[in-house]
Amino acid sequence: MLPHLRDQYANPSGAHTMARAARKAIDEARDTMADLLGFEPREVVFTGGGTEADNLAVLGRHDRAGGVVVASAVEHHAVLDPAVSRGGRLVAVDARGVLDLDALAAALDAVTDEGEHPTLVSVMLANNEVGTVQPLGEVVQLVRERAPAALVHTDAVQGFAWLDVPAATAAVDLVSISAHKFGGPKGAGVLAIREGAAGGVAPRSLGGGQERERRSGTQDVAAIVGMAAAARLAATERPATVERVGKLRDRLVESLLASVPDMIETGVGADGDRSHKVAGTAHVCFAGIESESLLFLLEKAEVFASAASSCASGAQEPSHVLAAMGVPRDLALGSLRLSLGATSSAADVDAALEAIPPAVERLRRFS
Ligand code: PLP
Repeated sequence: MLPHLRDQYANPSGAHTMARAARKAIDEARDTMADLLGFEPREVVFTGGGTEADNLAVLGRHDRAGGVVVASAVEHHAVLDPAVSRGGRLVAVDARGVLDLDALAAALDAVTDEGEHPTLVSVMLANNEVGTVQPLGEVVQLVRERAPAALVHTDAVQGFAWLDVPAATAAVDLVSISAHKFGGPKGAGVLAIREGAAGGVAPRSLGGGQERERRSGTQDVAAIVGMAAAARLAATERPATVERVGKLRDRLVESLLASVPDMIETGVGADGDRSHKVAGTAHVCFAGIESESLLFLLEKAEVFASAASSCASGAQEPSHVLAAMGVPRDLALGSLRLSLGATSSAADVDAALEAIPPAVERLRRFS
């Protein structure tokens, strides 16, 4: 990234030599991203991150085709909010967070029965809170049968680091990713749009006509170059990372389950099978405590985690993901999400295991 921030700072849309060098850097990054996503270079649209890619897919499709957007109930807000803002329908998931395919079929039929038509179905590849992977192949098959005019979009933002995206999204029309989820810079992403679907998505930003008129605005050359380098590294190391981090995650969760009473691993049944989750996600819920207090204690121990709750209103509300999965409210309010990544180590897991059980115990004693 540094040469593009320091010396080669020209605008890639310009015509002179320096501009052409910037243009070449973007073209090479486009080739890389296309290769790693299973798309053609001309199908790759650079965006300012995952949120913009998701908004372009949902709102751009609705702007162009109208109709009804159908999305899973556990989408990130970057899909959920644009979908809901256009009157979209949300489809239920099961207790693991996996989309209910019968409910999807029923939702598509209901839209048609009402004299409307579904124009976009958006189902994420992997969930950002609980890590659940969705059966995209079956989703696409169902949509092609029941609503052939609908495009299928997947928010693969949380999937890229862990899953073979070209294989998982081979039949999907629109794929969003975000660089900062796999070690790249913040503020860079891609919406990949299949050639056949290209006319079906209206641009959201108009102006200089960059990105083949699909996303006007001068590209952030350094961020795009950084994203491509990070993507190549993440994809090359993915098999080894998944294996190593998966084991760390399993040890983390299993040690917590063994040492902390009244705790569940979210979205995992009594059989303990977590094969439907990406390797880096550890999500648990503790009865009788509030996530916010737990995060405060953990931060003091330098364990930086998150809870899947939003408190925009000031009051603690369980996340929409946990609510859709049917996690009881008292457990959902005590949720803890521990994200592992390519750089996570055994020592990190040890530190978390040292900090979490006494923090939970302390909070329970005072509650
Ligand atoms: N989609 C998912 C599943 C995410 O996890 C995130 C970020 O956390 C986004 C979209 C938004 O991406 P960005 O932060 O690049 O805007």
